[in-house]
Amino acid sequence: MKVVLKNLTKKFPPINKKAAEGVTAVNNFTFEIPDGKLVGLLGPSGCGKSTALNLICGLLTPTSGKIFFGDDDVTELPPERRGVGLVFQNYALYPHLTVRQNIIFPLENLKGKDKLTKAQMNEKALEIAKLVQIDSLMDRKPGELSGGQQQRVAIARALVKMPRVLLLDEPLSNLDARLRLQTREEISRIQKETGITTVFVTHDQEEAMSISDIIVVMKDGVVQQVGKPQDVYDEPTNLFVAKFLGTPPINVFSGCVKDSKLYIGEDFVLDANGVSDREVYVGIRPEGFVLTESGKFNCELSRVEVMGRDISVVATNAHSENPTVRAIISAENKLDLAAKTVSFDLKPNKVFIFDKTTEERIK
Ligand code: ADP
Ligand code: MG
Repeated sequence: MKVVLKNLTKKFPPINKKAAEGVTAVNNFTFEIPDGKLVGLLGPSGCGKSTALNLICGLLTPTSGKIFFGDDDVTELPPERRGVGLVFQNYALYPHLTVRQNIIFPLENLKGKDKLTKAQMNEKALEIAKLVQIDSLMDRKPGELSGGQQQRVAIARALVKMPRVLLLDEPLSNLDARLRLQTREEISRIQKETGITTVFVTHDQEEAMSISDIIVVMKDGVVQQVGKPQDVYDEPTNLFVAKFLGTPPINVFSGCVKDSKLYIGEDFVLDANGVSDREVYVGIRPEGFVLTESGKFNCELSRVEVMGRDISVVATNAHSENPTVRAIISAENKLDLAAKTVSFDLKPNKVFIFDKTTEERIK
């Protein structure tokens, strides 16, 4: 089921009289979630991710704009008539019910032609439990399950009615690191197996990048960029997106373009043909450095961290916006650890320049 958001806006009124202005949590969202894809809604805390999700599921009504599921305008429909499955961070299972009863719960108030017999409900619950691999736990109560297992039950409960759209709001945040990794692979598998159009909300860029067909990067209620994870990483539209994606994060420097040449401080680092003279921010991905004695870009070496396959060169530079500069280079490089300075050439496709005022990318 394709989901289309058209000029979707949600404003919250001021919380009290002192607060002069309200918040525009979702500001003029227009994008399409293709049928059967997993879309990651990504942005820092408070940027409007949950609000966007709650608009899609119908728990909130928009201030303006429209939501379509396929060709159906669902903007005015209550949540129970939209055919959505919801999973939250805190599982929200019924503690006094067994796993089976929790999964069956959404099926119990089906009416008319959709009404199911007890046997049919049990059959459906078992089928879904098998899909999320909790079928051996059906008679336990939530308190007798690990966090990861509880979240699987919540996913099973969201899937049992075969929703048209599955909505997940930070579903992995309460899990420890290892379970988070495992459960995210599970969600990806389940999504592919069922083919249900899915929106996955997270503030964790790595999580979003690894699981999503498409990511939507948000800031302050405004969509910054929509695209395949690799494309957004390779071609960020502005400084915010460049900084938000990638670990270790992108290195940012103050620089300038003069006579079609890009400078960081005194160092002429790359050609910048076609860019008019101006102050810029220079973003360099950690993998964008090539260690060379004759390199054009000079930094003060702080230390070297060995990571097996790669080496992380930690350095400083007077024009860096971050306290340290981090370059990832192959472990095959021989590094003179006694040296005070390191010199790099830069890979042009790993260097982005941004207008210093607008912070928009200059191509
Ligand atoms: P996220 O999920 O990305 O952390 P939210 O969608 O929860 O962000 O919130 C976006 C913004 O809207 C925040 O500034 C938040 O304080 C505000 N907000 C969310 N819900 C309400 C509400 N019910 N009333 C007023 N402001 C709200
Ligand atoms: Mg949220």
